[in-house]
Amino acid sequence: MPQPAKTELTVQGIAASQGIAYGQIFVYIQTDVEVPSYQVEADKRIEEVSRFDRALVVTRQQISKIKNEVEKNIGPEEALIFDAHLMVLEDQALIGETIREFEATGCNIETCFNKVSARYIKAFAEIDDEYLRERAGDIRDVAQRVLQNLLGQAENSLSRLADKRIVVASDISPSDSASVDRSAALALVTDTGSKTSHAVIVARSMKMPAVVGVRDLTKRARNGDWAIVDGYDGVVILNPSESTLFRYGKIQERKKSFEARLLEANRQAAVTLDGVAVALMANIEKVDEVSQVKAYCAEGVGLYRTEYLFLNAARIPTEQEQFLAYKEVAESLAPLPVIIRTLDLGGDKPMAGNPDLFPKENNPFMGFRAIRFCLEHQGIFKDQLRAILRASAHGTVRVMYPMISGSEELLRANIVLGECMVELKSRGVAFDEKLQVGAMIEIPSAAMTADILAKDCAFFSIGTNDLIQYLLAIDRVNDRIAHLYEPTHPAVVRTLKYIVDEAHKRGVPVSVCGEMAGDPVFAPLLLGLGVDGLSMSPTWVPSVKYIVRAMTMADARALAAEALTLESPKEIYARCDAFYRARVKVE
Ligand code: PEP
Ligand code: MG
Repeated sequence: MPQPAKTELTVQGIAASQGIAYGQIFVYIQTDVEVPSYQVEADKRIEEVSRFDRALVVTRQQISKIKNEVEKNIGPEEALIFDAHLMVLEDQALIGETIREFEATGCNIETCFNKVSARYIKAFAEIDDEYLRERAGDIRDVAQRVLQNLLGQAENSLSRLADKRIVVASDISPSDSASVDRSAALALVTDTGSKTSHAVIVARSMKMPAVVGVRDLTKRARNGDWAIVDGYDGVVILNPSESTLFRYGKIQERKKSFEARLLEANRQAAVTLDGVAVALMANIEKVDEVSQVKAYCAEGVGLYRTEYLFLNAARIPTEQEQFLAYKEVAESLAPLPVIIRTLDLGGDKPMAGNPDLFPKENNPFMGFRAIRFCLEHQGIFKDQLRAILRASAHGTVRVMYPMISGSEELLRANIVLGECMVELKSRGVAFDEKLQVGAMIEIPSAAMTADILAKDCAFFSIGTNDLIQYLLAIDRVNDRIAHLYEPTHPAVVRTLKYIVDEAHKRGVPVSVCGEMAGDPVFAPLLLGLGVDGLSMSPTWVPSVKYIVRAMTMADARALAAEALTLESPKEIYARCDAFYRARVKVE
C-alpha cells in the first residue's frame, strides 16, 4: 500500500462500532450550494441559456443513472422517487420562468434558477394538498443538483463513493446513513454523535467500524489521507507509520480468527449451558436485510424500523408500496415472527422530503415523534396499519407501537388499529385476526406503568437506546455528554428489572431491542434480569449467541442479582465485563 510521508497523528473519540479499517479518507461535507451572482454581458446571453440546457441534460442523465442503479440494487419501489425528480426537470413552467427571469434581469442563470426554484419550493410547501406539498422536497433536491452542475461542482454524495473510503463527516443524519454506499464505505467517523445515533446503528448492522465524537477531525483530515480506524478503542490514526500498520495488522488477524470461530459456533442453537433457550432476533431497516437475518441465523425480526422506507422518500409511500415491502419480509421469513414497528419518524428522524410535516423543534427527542405523530396524522397511520394487517396474511406478523408513554396512547392506537381491521374485513381482505400487538417500553412513564400497559399488550420490547436517554437525561446524539450515557447505571438496571417483573406477573413476555441487546458484554445481565429475548443487528447474533452458549442462566441470574445491589455504573460494568471475559477468550 502506498504511504504518504506525513506525520502520524492519533485522535481519540468514542468507540461506536467494533472493527478495524485501513484506507483513504473521504471527507463528507453537507452544505447547500453557494450561488454567486453577477451580470451576463449582452453578447454572452445565448451561451448562458445553452449552459442552462446542458446542465439540465447532465442532471437528467445523472438521475436516470441513479434510478437504474437503485432499481437494480435495491428495488423498484425505492427507485420511484427518482421518477418524481425527473418530472421536476421536465417542468416547463420552472424552466420557462427561469429563462424569463434571466431575460428580464440579465443576472447569471444560476441566480435566476435559484430564485425561481426557491419560489416554487415555498409555494409548494404552503399548498393544502399533502401530495403537492411533498413536491417541495423533490424540487429542492433537483435544484441543488442542477446548481452543482451549473457551477461545475462535483457530486458529494455518500451513496456513490468513487472507491473504497473511510467516510469522515461532521455528523451523519439518519437519511444520509440510509443512503451510504454499503459496498464502498470502509468505516464511519464523525466529529459529533454518540453510540446510539442512527448512523452508528447502521454502521453496527454492517459490521463497519465506527468512531464518533472525534472532535474537529473533518478540519484535520484531508480527502485522500490514509488512516486507521480502530472501532474497538475509539481511535483514529491519521497517516499511520509502518510500525503502527504492522501492529494493527496483527490485531486484525487475531480478531479475524475469533470472528471465524463465532461464525462456526453460530450454526448451533442459542441455548445456555444449563439448557435454557434464548430467542435471538434481528433488527432490520430495509427489506434487503432479510438475507442477513437468514445468514446470521436470527430467529425472526424483533424490530423492523419501518421509518426507513419513508426517510429518503420524496413522498409518503402508499399503502400498497408499504404492503409489498412488509409482505416480502413476512413471506421470506415465515414461519419465523416479524415484529413490525409502526412509524418512528420525528426526533432525529424527520422525513427529508417532507419538512412541513416535521417543523423544527427545540427539543426534537421530546417532541412530535413516533406514536404522537401517528395519532395526529391518522391518514398516514391507517395506511401503514392496513399495510401491516394485509401483510399479516403472509407470515407471522406482529405489530408494535414506538414511544408509548402511557395507557391512553396505547388504547387510542389500538382503536385506530381496530378501525382498520373492521374496514379490511368489510372489504373481504385477509389478515391475521389474532395479530399480536405490543408496545415499546422506552419512556420512563411507560416503564413505571408497565403493570397497566401489560393488560393491553401481547408483548413488550424494551428500547434501551431511548429508555437510557430519557432516564438519565442524556441526549443520545450529543457528543458532549456521550460519556455519561451509561447502560449500566443502577437506575437503568432497576428499571429493567421492574418492567420484566411487572410484565411477567401478567404473563407478558419481554424482549430488548436497543443496542444493549446486541452487546455480548450486556446480554448476560439482561437475560439474568429475566428478559426473554434479545433483538439486535443481524451481524451481532453470532457474538451474543457465543456468550449465551458459554454461560449458565443460573450464573447470569447471579450477575443480575449482584448488579442490583451495586451503586455505581462503573462497578456494574466491571462485573459484566469480568463475566464476559471469564467465558470468552478473543485470542
Ligand atoms: C430504542 O430506542 O432502543 C430503539 C430500539 O429504537 P430506536 O433506536 O429506533 O429509537
Ligand atoms: Mg427508540
